[in-house]
Amino acid sequence: MEPLTECDESEELELELVQQPDKRLAAIARGLKASRDNPCSFAAYLDQRFIPTKFNREAIVAACTEPRLICVLPPSHGKSRIMIEVATWLLGRTRQKLTLASWSLEEGLDVSRDVRDRVAQNPRFRLVFPRVALPQKTQPVAKFITTSGGMLSTIEVGDQVPLSDVLLIDDPIKSPKEAQSAVNRERVWDWYINAAFTRLNVAGRIVLICSRAHGDDLAGRLIKQGGWKVLNWQAIVDDAALWPDRVPLDYLRKTESALGPKVWRCAYQGEPDDEQGGSTSMPRRESFKEFLELDAKVPGDQSKRETRGTFTRFTLDGREALVDIVEAFDFVLANSIKDAQIAVAGGAQWGKTTLQHAFMTYCTGQLFRNVMTFLPDEGLVSDVVQTKFRPTMVDQLPWFAGMIEMGKVTNESGKTVNRIGVYSVTDGIRKATGMFCGLNKVPTTHSADIALIDEVDDVDERNEKFVAGRLTTSDIRLIAKAGTQRVHGRGMNKAWKDGSQGIVMLTCSHCQRQQNPEDSFPGIVCLDDGSAEPARLTHAGDFRRGEEVVSTHLPSNKYFLGCVSCGTRLDRRAPAWKHKRADQILLHNWSFRISQLSIDAIDLGKIVNDWHKAVQSDDKMLMFRTDVLAIPKSTAQKLTPEILDRARRIEVFDVSPPPMSNRSVRYGGLDMGGRCWFFVREVESPIRKRVIWAESIPLHQVGVRVPQLCESLGVSCTFVDQMPETKESRTLALRLNGIDALSQFPRIPDTGQCHVSFGNGLTFSRDDHGDGKWVGMKCAVVRFDKKRPGQGIELKPDYFTGSNGSEICVPMVVCNRMETVDSAVREFLTPAEGEMENHIGLGLRSTPAILLPQSKLDIWREFDEHHISGSERERETSGELGDYVDGIANHLLFANSYARLAEVIGSRSKPVAFSYGRPNREHRTSGI
Ligand SMILES: [Zn+2]
Repeated sequence: MEPLTECDESEELELELVQQPDKRLAAIARGLKASRDNPCSFAAYLDQRFIPTKFNREAIVAACTEPRLICVLPPSHGKSRIMIEVATWLLGRTRQKLTLASWSLEEGLDVSRDVRDRVAQNPRFRLVFPRVALPQKTQPVAKFITTSGGMLSTIEVGDQVPLSDVLLIDDPIKSPKEAQSAVNRERVWDWYINAAFTRLNVAGRIVLICSRAHGDDLAGRLIKQGGWKVLNWQAIVDDAALWPDRVPLDYLRKTESALGPKVWRCAYQGEPDDEQGGSTSMPRRESFKEFLELDAKVPGDQSKRETRGTFTRFTLDGREALVDIVEAFDFVLANSIKDAQIAVAGGAQWGKTTLQHAFMTYCTGQLFRNVMTFLPDEGLVSDVVQTKFRPTMVDQLPWFAGMIEMGKVTNESGKTVNRIGVYSVTDGIRKATGMFCGLNKVPTTHSADIALIDEVDDVDERNEKFVAGRLTTSDIRLIAKAGTQRVHGRGMNKAWKDGSQGIVMLTCSHCQRQQNPEDSFPGIVCLDDGSAEPARLTHAGDFRRGEEVVSTHLPSNKYFLGCVSCGTRLDRRAPAWKHKRADQILLHNWSFRISQLSIDAIDLGKIVNDWHKAVQSDDKMLMFRTDVLAIPKSTAQKLTPEILDRARRIEVFDVSPPPMSNRSVRYGGLDMGGRCWFFVREVESPIRKRVIWAESIPLHQVGVRVPQLCESLGVSCTFVDQMPETKESRTLALRLNGIDALSQFPRIPDTGQCHVSFGNGLTFSRDDHGDGKWVGMKCAVVRFDKKRPGQGIELKPDYFTGSNGSEICVPMVVCNRMETVDSAVREFLTPAEGEMENHIGLGLRSTPAILLPQSKLDIWREFDEHHISGSERERETSGELGDYVDGIANHLLFANSYARLAEVIGSRSKPVAFSYGRPNREHRTSGI
């Protein structure tokens, strides 16, 4: 036995009694001395009816002396009685401050009430410990002190703990059922570590008396920790009951069969299954992909009675396009990539909600990462959680349900917060929180590792920036956005454009042509009627073979996606992602566009049916574009596939046609870069123009190829952007103007009237108003230095120093980017698009000013892509339309714009036949 703190008074009493000669008194004195020294004797003396069993005696003695004790007893085997005896004796024998903690305050108060009554009223207590009593004034049962300075406080596990010498813990958790929840177990552990253990005096003792509730309960963790004396009594040993007088064997046997072997072993035999902290059945998934395929559930078909209310396993079969997206998420998690962004722009029904909720569940429940899912409005939170997250994720995953507590989280300052749409999750060791919040009300007291933003288009841009602020302390800081693109230039569309711009490509197994189903819609959808040449879906909503209408949409029709070149059936289950800005992936900035066309699980019949309706209604067309094609249509979008198709149907011609007439002039435009894009237009009148050539040329071949093409196509003048390949642009300008052999360039005065001839017909003149003009120009470099529209076009010399140190000069045109592009875009528009253009002598233009050739060459698909994506305009925050978007594939639109600029400047003088070559003043003048 450890030495106990003596009470001086009882020692005096003992001496008095022992010194009495009377034998009977001597016997009493021995009894009193025994009671004073031995808590079991004391217990028997205090209550003569109480006959302590062997395990009672062992437990009481150990509980009064051991510095760290765990006593495991089956339920109904007198744990509370042991506590009463221990507390009474300690209050009599010592001045220690005791704290009694149990799962329920009521249970604890029953014990302490008994203890208080004994100290206050029991005459035998007074005999053994005559100087220990309760002070006169009444004290609450929950906390009373004795006259000798001892104290007993009674609390509930989880409450604040007063400073104590002895901590008595009596069943910290109610039952094995409660202990199934990792959250409950964690709460007990948290309290023990942070609130109880730290409130113990230096020499303080801890006594835990309990029935086992779980392998990972408080006793389980402390036993693993080591340094504890453990007494474990089983209800039945060798077919004998532990306490046959009170809890007989047959009763125990009945209990065993009622509880089942697992709970029985745990609670009555003190042998819980070793459950390593985690919930019993928590699966270990290697990746989000594995989790998604093995654990994620989706509701069964709600329209059929037999599947309504049921759930089936989510599958990537038929959703192969999602694999790359899922793998991007896994890449970020597996490599702890910091500050990654993933944007998924998609229509309806591709699996957005499943992906979001499964990702949230996986990150919180498996990786123990904190996740915030932002919805556009706080009002949506409750609905999303109650009708989607809870039934599909929590209710369908028992291991997850066992680990999570809904509606409660602890914030950064340690405060428990009750809120709809939040949950905490723990496996007993690791912890995480999940939060659904409205982006109109971003919580500032929580932080996360991962933020998911749903339906970005509905989110106020001003609030979106708060999201990053919630991630500042994490080592991951992943922001993932998903939603439909409804508006060009902002929201989800902006997120997609700012990322890697991934689109799905389907490859033809016959001709190897790669095609994006959205960009090739509607013609890519074919009618399956067994014909060698399939009938294709049209903008009118029917199926045609050539001009012949073969069928309209019928529910019995079968459809397939057919190669736009050869009609071969394309495999919707073999999509390949093409990222237009692959460099962004290196910056961990992924974006994906996913339409219903690339999800095989979505029936083509449904898509054709939706299209059939969309062509008859503007509202439905808007929905079709956002939900099915995942491409927004808005007033900011000038050119569409329909508009470009119209420019092909009016007049049929192929590339490089013979000249329209002897009045027509041809102009070139060249967009420079790693690859260069050359474009030629033929102009007969302001309302009659044709596109006759487009070509992509490697930069190193530009100097040879462009002059060749100008010669063979008869191009009068070509405009080239000066940036970014300044050297190549200037070299080309010298060559096309035929002045590359010039040894000395005249210096044009900075101001004042002048007329400077370079030879080969190239002349710069400035009038007395200061307006400069190039005449006889066959090529100029273009700079978009005019910051605002309406600042006009300025013609001037571009002087630079050549490789031999001499001063060289080429013609330069300075103008505004937006105006230049706009001029080229508007040529495709007609009054149907609100484009009114009146020409003196020609009247109002009713058809496109410029027409396109019929050609199946890939360059014309690129031509369309560049014109469609390049003709989108940013929307300013004020709602006003801004400049044409940048940073996308728009090269042929720019090449066209430079050619248009050449036309505008060229039309100031009468065009004449033109050819390139060495200077010959007699025959070679451009029309300019
Ligand atoms: Zn093909």
